[in-house]
Amino acid sequence: MPDKLRLVLMSCCAPCSAGAIKQLADGEISGIDDFIVLFFNPNIFPTDEYDRRLAEQVRYCEKLGVKYAIGEYDHAAWRNAVRGMENAPERGPRCSACFRFRFEYAKKWAAEHGYNAISSVFGVSRHKDQSQVDRAGCITLSDKYMPIKWDEQLRIAINKTADFYRQKYCGCEFSIRPDVKKAPNQEKFVLIR
Ligand code: SF4
Repeated sequence: MPDKLRLVLMSCCAPCSAGAIKQLADGEISGIDDFIVLFFNPNIFPTDEYDRRLAEQVRYCEKLGVKYAIGEYDHAAWRNAVRGMENAPERGPRCSACFRFRFEYAKKWAAEHGYNAISSVFGVSRHKDQSQVDRAGCITLSDKYMPIKWDEQLRIAINKTADFYRQKYCGCEFSIRPDVKKAPNQEKFVLIR
């Protein structure tokens, strides 16, 4: 084990990461000496949606006074990583490839910036499968992966009072679902987070 545990927390958005970042900022996860939030989400489409989620992430990190970094946004590279899996359902092989793609980036980023452990909030949404995220993390990162169980009640409590922008789909264009319950003048897509 390294002397100091320096964690990269991969985040997809402010609503999903709110509890995890607060726990880390408050020193509630034992053994972590330092951490940074890494926003690397080239899966998000379109770009204005990406910009809104990023702005919310930055706003929350700055409010809590925690470090953050922003990875490159190359949606074409992400599309290549999931080619042939476009029509797979959520929780299917496209999502596994998506998680691995983002973990691969984090692995390289962490090595270049002096961090030695990686975790994520990719599995906190009720539409995600935490065990699928953990499998992708273990395969991609081996012993650098830390499968932390975040406090879901804390996340819910923060979300109740925060005025976060709340996205209506996971992120990629393939996760945008028509609103089956759509009524006149209501929003076009189902809220899934
Ligand atoms: S649904 Fe979400 S996790 Fe799955 S491929 Fe799309 S952006 Fe990635």
